Amino acid sequence: MNCRKCGRKAAVNLKAYGISLCEKCYIEFYKNIVKKSIKRFRILNQDERILTAVSGGKDSSAMAAVLKELGYDIELLYIDLGIGSYSKESENAVRELSKNLDLKLNVVRLKDYGFTIDDVAEKMRRKTCSACGIAKRYIMNRFGRENDFDVIATGHTAEDMVSFYIKNLAGGAKVWAEKLMPRNDPFDERVVARAKPLFEMSEKENMLYVIIGNIPYTHAECPHAPEPEWKEIVYEVERRKPGFVKNFLRGLVRPAEGFEKISYCKICGEVASSEICAFCRLKERLES
Ligand code: SF4
Ligand code: ZN
Repeated sequence: MNCRKCGRKAAVNLKAYGISLCEKCYIEFYKNIVKKSIKRFRILNQDERILTAVSGGKDSSAMAAVLKELGYDIELLYIDLGIGSYSKESENAVRELSKNLDLKLNVVRLKDYGFTIDDVAEKMRRKTCSACGIAKRYIMNRFGRENDFDVIATGHTAEDMVSFYIKNLAGGAKVWAEKLMPRNDPFDERVVARAKPLFEMSEKENMLYVIIGNIPYTHAECPHAPEPEWKEIVYEVERRKPGFVKNFLRGLVRPAEGFEKISYCKICGEVASSEICAFCRLKERLES
């Protein structure tokens, strides 16, 4: 098969778009889609200081590389969650990424707040990922605000959005609309805006971008990761119905909605939905 754009031998076949491309044209194609997506959904502005959260994995590495390519003002943030050798390997990959892209790397260690995710896993096995999510959001927001960033970008993918939605819907939960938006502007001055510039990109597209572009990343996987059942269902539907994820997503993404009630944590002062924020409650439970 030949490249749809230049006619040379194709290197990738994108079923969701029904096209084949050579390596060089793929890089341009990817950049263009991200650029259009950022514009259409007003995900980022060129004059913003962007804190890019990186984990060392392919998706956030692709995000950092493409945002840099598109001329955005970015720095990297790596959160050391204290997950054995996984955290060390991830940090090495992020250090390489920072060198390769010539971007400033900021590192925050959860253990400086008094615990690690390995501690959480030992004490409250089934809740590890939700505790980890609380810790990551807390640190990102606090670091972003204290260092004057306008927005925090995370590497969520199209599959993350769709599987999150289906999983919650199937569990009977009210699906949390905030998580399904490509940009969340702050509802309070202590909250930093959040953006998902790759929300329309698939994991495969990100993987191709980092491989073809020679962008450092690691294959290392978190030992606490649950079976990715819902993701696998999403992959399977996409395999049988190419384009499913992107079409589904288009129906899903909604404009921002207001927030009901804001209060501040009486322990740390961050924004909370009750007297004590989720992060401090987590710490209390670990300490008791
Ligand atoms: Fe944290 Fe769970 Fe992700 Fe591991 S798999 S990094 S514990 S959210
Ligand atoms: Zn080509």
